[in-house]
Amino acid sequence: MELMKKFDLPPSLDLNWISQQALDTWEGVIQDISLMIQELEIESVAAGHRPCAWRTIGLKEIDDFSRRCAEIDLSVLPVKQVGDWGNGFSHFNPPVKEGETPNIYCIIYRNIQDARVLAKAHDDEDHITQGKMLGFPDCCVKFFDRVWKDGYFDPVWQIALDDEKKSPPGKLPGESIRTLDAHPFSNPLLRYVGVRVGFHVPCSFHCQKSIAVAQQRLSLCLKSERKDLIPLLTSLLSMPVEWNVYRGIAVVKTPVFYLRTNSIPTKEHYTVRLQGTFKPREAARGVCFPFQENPDDSRK
Ligand SMILES: [Zn+2]
Repeated sequence: MELMKKFDLPPSLDLNWISQQALDTWEGVIQDISLMIQELEIESVAAGHRPCAWRTIGLKEIDDFSRRCAEIDLSVLPVKQVGDWGNGFSHFNPPVKEGETPNIYCIIYRNIQDARVLAKAHDDEDHITQGKMLGFPDCCVKFFDRVWKDGYFDPVWQIALDDEKKSPPGKLPGESIRTLDAHPFSNPLLRYVGVRVGFHVPCSFHCQKSIAVAQQRLSLCLKSERKDLIPLLTSLLSMPVEWNVYRGIAVVKTPVFYLRTNSIPTKEHYTVRLQGTFKPREAARGVCFPFQENPDDSRK
Protein backbone atom coordinates (compact mmCIF):
# COMPACT_ATOMS: atom_id res chain seq x y z
CA MET A 1 0.00 0.00 0.00
CA GLU A 2 1.54 3.27 -1.14
CA LEU A 3 0.66 6.50 0.66
CA MET A 4 0.58 10.05 -0.72
CA LYS A 5 3.35 12.12 0.81
CA LYS A 6 2.65 15.12 3.08
CA PHE A 7 -1.11 14.68 2.73
CA ASP A 8 -3.21 14.54 5.88
CA LEU A 9 -6.88 15.56 5.96
CA PRO A 10 -8.31 17.13 9.13
CA PRO A 11 -10.66 15.01 11.26
CA SER A 12 -14.19 14.78 9.91
CA LEU A 13 -17.13 12.42 10.25
CA ASP A 14 -20.39 12.23 8.30
CA LEU A 15 -23.00 9.66 9.17
CA ASN A 16 -25.89 8.99 6.78
CA TRP A 17 -28.79 6.65 7.55
CA ILE A 18 -30.36 4.58 4.81
CA SER A 19 -33.90 5.38 6.05
CA GLN A 20 -35.79 7.28 8.73
CA GLN A 21 -36.77 3.92 10.21
CA ALA A 22 -33.12 2.87 10.52
CA LEU A 23 -32.27 6.18 12.17
CA ASP A 24 -35.20 5.96 14.62
CA THR A 25 -34.22 2.43 15.61
CA TRP A 26 -30.43 2.64 15.86
CA GLU A 27 -29.24 6.23 16.38
CA GLY A 28 -30.08 6.28 20.10
CA VAL A 29 -28.63 2.78 20.56
CA ILE A 30 -25.32 3.87 19.04
CA GLN A 31 -25.19 6.96 21.25
CA ASP A 32 -25.87 4.86 24.37
CA ILE A 33 -23.22 2.30 23.37
CA SER A 34 -20.64 5.00 22.71
CA LEU A 35 -21.30 6.50 26.15
CA MET A 36 -21.11 3.09 27.83
CA ILE A 37 -17.73 2.34 26.24
CA GLN A 38 -16.38 5.74 27.33
CA GLU A 39 -17.46 4.92 30.89
CA LEU A 40 -15.84 1.47 30.66
CA GLU A 41 -12.54 3.08 29.66
CA ILE A 42 -12.43 4.62 33.14
CA GLU A 43 -14.21 1.85 35.09
CA SER A 44 -11.76 -0.75 33.75
CA VAL A 45 -8.95 1.13 35.50
CA ALA A 46 -10.92 1.29 38.76
CA ALA A 47 -11.66 -2.45 38.46
CA GLY A 48 -7.95 -3.25 38.12
CA HIS A 49 -8.26 -4.58 34.57
CA ARG A 50 -5.50 -2.24 33.43
CA PRO A 51 -3.15 0.32 35.02
CA CYS A 52 -4.19 3.52 33.20
CA ALA A 53 -6.47 5.19 30.65
CA TRP A 54 -6.16 8.34 28.55
CA ARG A 55 -8.93 10.94 28.47
CA THR A 56 -9.06 14.34 26.79
CA ILE A 57 -11.06 16.71 28.97
CA GLY A 58 -12.22 20.27 28.33
CA LEU A 59 -10.53 22.74 30.68
CA LYS A 60 -13.90 23.73 32.15
CA GLU A 61 -14.83 20.12 32.96
CA ILE A 62 -11.58 18.99 34.54
CA ASP A 63 -12.55 19.81 38.14
CA ASP A 64 -15.85 17.92 37.96
CA PHE A 65 -14.21 15.02 36.17
CA SER A 66 -11.39 14.74 38.72
CA ARG A 67 -13.88 14.67 41.59
CA ARG A 68 -15.89 11.92 39.91
CA CYS A 69 -12.70 9.91 39.46
CA ALA A 70 -11.79 10.43 43.13
CA GLU A 71 -15.11 8.85 44.13
CA ILE A 72 -13.94 5.56 42.59
CA ASP A 73 -10.36 5.88 43.97
CA LEU A 74 -8.85 7.13 40.72
CA SER A 75 -6.62 10.15 40.13
CA VAL A 76 -6.08 12.37 37.12
CA LEU A 77 -2.67 13.49 35.85
CA PRO A 78 -2.87 16.35 33.31
CA VAL A 79 -0.13 15.71 30.76
CA LYS A 80 -0.51 18.41 28.13
CA GLN A 81 -2.75 21.03 26.60
CA VAL A 82 -4.23 20.09 23.25
CA GLY A 83 -6.50 21.77 20.73
CA ASP A 84 -9.94 20.74 19.59
CA TRP A 85 -10.06 18.15 16.80
CA GLY A 86 -13.80 18.60 16.27
CA ASN A 87 -15.78 15.75 14.86
CA GLY A 88 -14.00 12.59 13.82
CA PHE A 89 -10.93 10.57 14.51
CA SER A 90 -7.47 12.00 15.05
CA HIS A 91 -4.17 10.15 15.04
CA PHE A 92 -2.37 13.01 16.80
CA ASN A 93 -3.11 15.66 19.40
CA PRO A 94 -3.77 18.94 17.59
CA PRO A 95 -1.97 22.04 18.94
CA VAL A 96 -3.96 24.73 20.75
CA LYS A 97 -4.89 27.56 18.36
CA GLU A 98 -4.55 31.18 19.43
CA GLY A 99 -7.57 32.28 21.44
CA GLU A 100 -8.86 28.72 21.79
CA THR A 101 -9.71 27.27 25.22
CA PRO A 102 -7.43 24.24 25.52
CA ASN A 103 -8.43 20.68 26.28
CA ILE A 104 -6.25 18.72 28.67
CA TYR A 105 -4.83 15.34 27.73
CA CYS A 106 -4.92 13.38 31.00
CA ILE A 107 -3.88 10.03 32.39
CA ILE A 108 -6.40 8.33 34.68
CA TYR A 109 -4.66 6.02 37.13
CA ARG A 110 -4.73 4.18 40.45
CA ASN A 111 -0.98 4.16 41.07
CA ILE A 112 1.16 7.24 40.38
CA GLN A 113 4.12 5.05 39.37
CA ASP A 114 2.05 3.70 36.47
CA ALA A 115 1.04 7.21 35.40
CA ARG A 116 4.69 8.29 35.40
CA VAL A 117 5.66 5.33 33.22
CA LEU A 118 2.84 6.07 30.76
CA ALA A 119 3.64 9.81 30.61
CA LYS A 120 7.29 9.07 29.81
CA ALA A 121 6.35 6.45 27.21
CA HIS A 122 4.07 9.05 25.60
CA ASP A 123 6.91 11.63 25.52
CA ASP A 124 9.27 9.02 24.06
CA GLU A 125 6.64 7.83 21.50
CA ASP A 126 7.18 4.34 22.91
CA HIS A 127 4.04 2.51 21.73
CA ILE A 128 5.02 -0.80 23.32
CA THR A 129 5.15 0.60 26.87
CA GLN A 130 2.08 2.78 26.30
CA GLY A 131 0.12 -0.28 25.14
CA LYS A 132 1.21 -2.25 28.18
CA MET A 133 0.16 0.52 30.59
CA LEU A 134 -3.20 0.81 28.82
CA GLY A 135 -3.84 -2.94 29.11
CA PHE A 136 -3.77 -3.68 25.39
CA PRO A 137 -2.85 -7.25 24.29
CA ASP A 138 0.86 -7.56 23.47
CA CYS A 139 0.15 -9.03 20.00
CA CYS A 140 -1.96 -5.97 19.08
CA VAL A 141 0.59 -3.54 20.52
CA LYS A 142 3.40 -5.09 18.46
CA PHE A 143 1.21 -5.05 15.34
CA PHE A 144 0.27 -1.38 15.83
CA ASP A 145 3.86 -0.34 16.54
CA ARG A 146 4.96 -2.01 13.28
CA VAL A 147 2.29 -0.52 11.03
CA TRP A 148 2.38 2.94 12.65
CA LYS A 149 6.05 3.30 11.72
CA ASP A 150 5.03 2.89 8.06
CA GLY A 151 2.38 5.63 8.38
CA TYR A 152 -0.62 3.30 8.60
CA PHE A 153 -2.39 5.00 11.49
CA ASP A 154 -5.75 3.49 10.47
CA PRO A 155 -4.48 -0.02 9.65
CA VAL A 156 -7.66 -1.85 8.60
CA TRP A 157 -6.12 -3.12 5.36
CA GLN A 158 -3.03 -4.29 7.26
CA ILE A 159 -5.22 -6.28 9.68
CA ALA A 160 -6.90 -7.93 6.70
CA LEU A 161 -3.56 -8.82 5.11
CA ASP A 162 -2.35 -10.45 8.30
CA ASP A 163 -5.68 -12.24 8.61
CA GLU A 164 -5.49 -13.79 5.18
CA LYS A 165 -4.19 -17.07 6.52
CA LYS A 166 -7.23 -17.54 8.70
CA SER A 167 -9.95 -16.51 6.25
CA PRO A 168 -10.44 -16.84 2.50
CA PRO A 169 -9.25 -13.60 0.80
CA GLY A 170 -12.14 -13.36 -1.69
CA LYS A 171 -9.94 -11.25 -3.96
CA LEU A 172 -10.91 -10.44 -7.52
CA PRO A 173 -8.01 -10.27 -9.99
CA GLY A 174 -6.43 -6.82 -10.09
CA GLU A 175 -8.47 -5.44 -7.21
CA SER A 176 -7.37 -4.76 -3.66
CA ILE A 177 -10.33 -6.36 -1.93
CA ARG A 178 -10.33 -8.76 0.97
CA THR A 179 -13.50 -10.52 2.11
CA LEU A 180 -13.27 -12.06 5.54
CA ASP A 181 -15.28 -12.96 8.56
CA ALA A 182 -14.65 -11.44 11.98
CA HIS A 183 -15.40 -11.97 15.62
CA PRO A 184 -17.61 -9.04 16.72
CA PHE A 185 -15.29 -8.32 19.67
CA SER A 186 -12.30 -8.03 17.34
CA ASN A 187 -14.00 -5.82 14.75
CA PRO A 188 -12.73 -2.21 14.70
CA LEU A 189 -14.65 -0.99 11.63
CA LEU A 190 -17.40 0.86 13.51
CA ARG A 191 -15.12 2.46 16.10
CA TYR A 192 -15.36 5.77 14.22
CA VAL A 193 -18.88 6.13 15.66
CA GLY A 194 -17.99 4.64 19.06
CA VAL A 195 -19.35 1.14 18.33
CA ARG A 196 -16.52 -1.03 19.65
CA VAL A 197 -15.61 -3.08 22.68
CA GLY A 198 -11.83 -2.80 22.80
CA PHE A 199 -9.98 0.47 23.26
CA HIS A 200 -7.25 -0.54 20.83
CA VAL A 201 -6.92 -1.61 17.20
CA PRO A 202 -6.77 -5.44 17.17
CA CYS A 203 -4.01 -7.29 15.31
CA SER A 204 -6.55 -9.51 13.55
CA PHE A 205 -10.29 -9.85 13.07
CA HIS A 206 -10.07 -12.93 15.31
CA CYS A 207 -7.55 -11.80 17.96
CA GLN A 208 -8.24 -14.14 20.88
CA LYS A 209 -6.62 -11.81 23.41
CA SER A 210 -8.75 -8.87 22.21
CA ILE A 211 -11.86 -11.02 22.52
CA ALA A 212 -10.90 -12.01 26.08
CA VAL A 213 -10.22 -8.38 27.04
CA ALA A 214 -13.57 -7.34 25.54
CA GLN A 215 -15.42 -9.98 27.54
CA GLN A 216 -13.70 -8.79 30.71
CA ARG A 217 -14.70 -5.15 29.96
CA LEU A 218 -18.32 -6.06 29.27
CA SER A 219 -18.50 -8.05 32.51
CA LEU A 220 -18.51 -4.66 34.26
CA CYS A 221 -21.95 -3.99 32.76
CA LEU A 222 -23.64 -7.22 33.78
CA LYS A 223 -24.97 -5.91 37.09
CA SER A 224 -26.53 -2.75 35.69
CA GLU A 225 -29.19 -1.71 33.18
CA ARG A 226 -26.36 -1.36 30.67
CA LYS A 227 -26.33 -5.13 30.19
CA ASP A 228 -29.25 -4.68 27.77
CA LEU A 229 -26.87 -2.85 25.44
CA ILE A 230 -24.49 -5.82 25.15
CA PRO A 231 -26.60 -7.89 22.69
CA LEU A 232 -27.28 -4.73 20.65
CA LEU A 233 -23.56 -3.93 20.53
CA THR A 234 -22.76 -7.51 19.54
CA SER A 235 -25.42 -7.38 16.81
CA LEU A 236 -24.10 -4.12 15.33
CA LEU A 237 -20.56 -5.53 15.27
CA SER A 238 -21.90 -8.68 13.56
CA MET A 239 -23.43 -6.82 10.59
CA PRO A 240 -21.86 -7.22 7.14
CA VAL A 241 -19.69 -4.14 6.70
CA GLU A 242 -17.48 -2.71 3.98
CA TRP A 243 -14.53 -0.38 4.60
CA ASN A 244 -12.95 1.39 1.65
CA VAL A 245 -10.09 3.88 1.78
CA TYR A 246 -8.85 6.21 -0.95
CA ARG A 247 -6.82 9.42 -0.72
CA GLY A 248 -7.36 10.03 2.98
CA ILE A 249 -11.08 9.23 3.11
CA ALA A 250 -12.54 6.02 4.52
CA VAL A 251 -16.12 5.11 3.63
CA VAL A 252 -17.78 2.49 5.81
CA LYS A 253 -21.03 0.92 4.58
CA THR A 254 -23.34 -1.11 6.78
CA PRO A 255 -26.87 -2.30 5.93
CA VAL A 256 -28.33 0.62 7.96
CA PHE A 257 -25.85 3.51 7.66
CA TYR A 258 -22.88 4.88 5.74
CA LEU A 259 -20.12 6.86 7.31
CA ARG A 260 -17.32 8.89 5.82
CA THR A 261 -14.26 9.87 7.81
CA ASN A 262 -10.62 10.84 7.47
CA SER A 263 -8.10 8.02 7.17
CA ILE A 264 -4.78 7.16 5.55
CA PRO A 265 -3.91 8.88 2.23
CA THR A 266 -3.61 5.87 -0.10
CA LYS A 267 -2.88 6.30 -3.80
CA GLU A 268 -5.23 3.45 -4.74
CA HIS A 269 -8.54 2.06 -3.47
CA TYR A 270 -8.38 -0.64 -0.80
CA THR A 271 -11.51 -2.46 0.39
CA VAL A 272 -12.13 -4.81 3.30
CA ARG A 273 -15.47 -6.61 3.58
CA LEU A 274 -16.55 -8.45 6.71
CA GLN A 275 -19.31 -10.88 5.81
CA GLY A 276 -21.27 -10.68 9.04
CA THR A 277 -24.02 -12.81 10.48
CA PHE A 278 -26.65 -10.23 11.46
CA LYS A 279 -28.89 -7.99 9.37
CA PRO A 280 -31.22 -5.56 11.15
CA ARG A 281 -34.89 -5.57 10.13
CA GLU A 282 -34.35 -2.00 8.90
CA ALA A 283 -31.55 -3.06 6.52
CA ALA A 284 -31.69 -1.81 2.95
CA ARG A 285 -31.94 -4.52 0.28
CA GLY A 286 -29.86 -4.43 -2.86
CA VAL A 287 -27.63 -6.36 -5.20
CA CYS A 288 -24.21 -5.26 -3.94
CA PHE A 289 -22.38 -5.70 -0.65
CA PRO A 290 -23.49 -5.29 2.13
CA PHE A 291 -27.12 -5.11 0.98
CA GLN A 292 -27.61 -8.37 -0.90
CA GLU A 293 -29.59 -11.20 0.66
CA ASN A 294 -26.76 -13.71 0.53
CA PRO A 295 -23.38 -12.39 1.73
CA ASP A 296 -21.66 -14.91 -0.59
CA ASP A 297 -22.93 -12.89 -3.56
CA SER A 298 -20.19 -10.34 -2.83
CA ARG A 299 -17.60 -12.78 -4.16
CA LYS A 300 -19.24 -13.09 -7.60
ZN1 LIG B 1 -3.91 -9.18 19.10
